[in-house]
Amino acid sequence: MCKKILTSHSKWVEIEEGLTQLRPFEAVEMPRLTHGLCPNCYEGIVADLDDSGPPQKGVDSDEE
Ligand SMILES: [Zn+2]
Repeated sequence: MCKKILTSHSKWVEIEEGLTQLRPFEAVEMPRLTHGLCPNCYEGIVADLDDSGPPQKGVDSDEE
């Protein structure tokens, strides 16, 4: 997982970049840090899950 945050522009950026863009030290509010996954991580996890455990289907259902 990465340190990406969702900026106000609905753009996922590395947290350092996001903080720079948002200028939290000049802004009144701190940037909102999401606790979700960025699309990249999400896809990675989904792909991982998809790959890890195929349900037990008869792979060789040859024996009729
Ligand atoms: Zn990520």
